[in-house]
Amino acid sequence: MKCALVTGGSRGIGRAICVKLAVQGHHMLINYKSNKEEAEKTLSLIKQAGGDGELLPFDVADKGRIQEILGKWIEANEEKHIDILINNAGIRDDSLMAWMADEQWDNVLKTNLDSFFHVTRLVLNSMLAQKYGRIINIVSLSGLKGLAGQTNYSAAKAGVIGATKALAQEVGRQGITVNAIAPGFIKTDMTEGLDEKELKALIPVKRFGTAEEVAHAVVFLASPEAAYITGQVLSVNGGLYS
Ligand code: NDP
Repeated sequence: MKCALVTGGSRGIGRAICVKLAVQGHHMLINYKSNKEEAEKTLSLIKQAGGDGELLPFDVADKGRIQEILGKWIEANEEKHIDILINNAGIRDDSLMAWMADEQWDNVLKTNLDSFFHVTRLVLNSMLAQKYGRIINIVSLSGLKGLAGQTNYSAAKAGVIGATKALAQEVGRQGITVNAIAPGFIKTDMTEGLDEKELKALIPVKRFGTAEEVAHAVVFLASPEAAYITGQVLSVNGGLYS
């Protein structure tokens, strides 16, 4: 059975990715941190769309829990292969650097950057054995250009972009591609408190994007036909670069 693991699949962009990949015929592993009700909603949307999946809750910032939950799932499910991994779970905790607390830096780095290493390393072994895999990391415009108030978040996302390019070179010959998608402003819980009216004036297409529009790009990069695209960062940002 071919499986796809989406971290942070309970809400927002992750949920839209889960539904679209399920429609393509993948058994979905829906990771989340604590919001079981929303994760179950994702699973029911998957089922309504004719797909199937299961919940796999763990905190991506906690390497012990990743090993415990995901490591055990991999060991116990030898017939199921995770051939698509979407590192999507993320948080932001903005502050000007002069006032940024240690915890704000540590939490954002652990959740957005360290998680890439700990989750991907576990999944990579079976991809290497299968000689096939698609790894897609959800980064951000903030990681490409840097945004004031987000030194922690920009550093984490830029770190994932560097790791994407490096890992793509390590595993290319084994049939595994590694790419990143950099969304601009997407309408989800994460952007809830932002001044949409003011910000959308800066965006060439004059609106925030939808989670489905990001998921569409994920499905493209996750397809077998995207085999010759690796180490890339695809922006989904309505043309916003500055
Ligand atoms: P949301 O805040 O809507 O959803 C976040 C998801 O991540 C939830 O499913 C949440 O789970 C999960 N999550 C958060 N922390 C952890 C954790 N420690 N362990 C496991 N799961 C966790 O975010 P978006 O959908 O907007 O963002 C998704 C990704 O896209 C993020 O990486 C974000 O940085 C990136 N992005 C978003 C943009 C936007 O405009 N929205 C722009 C650029 C990038 P739970 O429900 O349990 O809390």
